[in-house]
Amino acid sequence: RAKKSAPGTICFFEASDDRSARDRRALQRDLEHAIEADELFLVYQPFLDIRKGRVTGFEALLRWQHPTRGLIPPTVFIPIAEESGLIHQLGEWVIRRACTMLSRWPDDIRIAVNFSAVQFQNVGILQTIVDALAEANVAPNRLEIEITESMLISKYGSAPAILHALLELGLTVALDDFGTGFSSLTYLRKLPFSRIKIDQSFIRDMLTQPDCAAIVKSVIGLAQELRIGVVAEGVETADQLEYLRQTSCDEVQGYLIGRPMSGSEISALLDHNPQHSVHAA
Ligand code: C2E
Ligand code: MG
Ligand code: MG
Ligand code: MG
Repeated sequence: RAKKSAPGTICFFEASDDRSARDRRALQRDLEHAIEADELFLVYQPFLDIRKGRVTGFEALLRWQHPTRGLIPPTVFIPIAEESGLIHQLGEWVIRRACTMLSRWPDDIRIAVNFSAVQFQNVGILQTIVDALAEANVAPNRLEIEITESMLISKYGSAPAILHALLELGLTVALDDFGTGFSSLTYLRKLPFSRIKIDQSFIRDMLTQPDCAAIVKSVIGLAQELRIGVVAEGVETADQLEYLRQTSCDEVQGYLIGRPMSGSEISALLDHNPQHSVHAA
């Protein structure tokens, strides 16, 4: 990241920090117009139910096609949106868009959207969700909210209240990136999550590191005891899928099953395969 400079020039850390701060401000200004400029879009990555051999739904992942910088990943622009408060608008756009896609896709397909901790500051999000579901005429149980453990211990005190309200509306809530945050077991007791998503770092290493395999097996067992669903993230190889099948994991997600795809690609796939069956499984 260090800027190229003339030989002998002393490069202070502040210099590069300034540059990145300027860069962030520029991106933030561009992001303010991204929705109206139609530069944001969602891609959808499938969930596969291992036992049924069927796709049960998709995770919606946000993308930004910047007019000059090209495709910008959410890991870059979501933090900027969170700091600037733009995440509220973005998050509402994501929910409306997801509901529109749900109205076009079969009733047994769900869409999961990612939530930022900052969005728990805005109680108005509940009304947005109610309205978006009603306008699209979509059953609430087809919309899932993904939150991470760290969001539950963050400074946003209203998080549990909003989560309970979402569950009362009939939405499902998944605990994302499970195992990478803190004190997850306490929250599993307090909040009726529908699903746990085991973080991809555990899946990546489970076939080479016995400790990792032990953790994956235990989390699957824990979910079963709690009678909630369990999803393995980041499944990339057939061996990983086979191991997860043997350990009775419910659902898998990852490049092996499908990369994130455009809404029209998914629509075409669903049209050609009304059973959503996946024979590779
Ligand atoms: P996440 O929710 O944990 O999403 C999973 C990420 O892993 C996605 O990256 C996905 O493309 C990637 N992935 C899926 N399968 C595989 C695999 O087999 N191998 C590997 N190596 N990676 C895989 P992506 O799309 O870049 O999103 C990154 C993060 O950005 C997401 O992590 C989520 O936290 C956040 N994000 C994405 N869309 C939104 C959004 O609409 N709102 C909010 N608040 N955050 C979002
Ligand atoms: Mg997620
Ligand atoms: Mg995740
Ligand atoms: Mg993640």
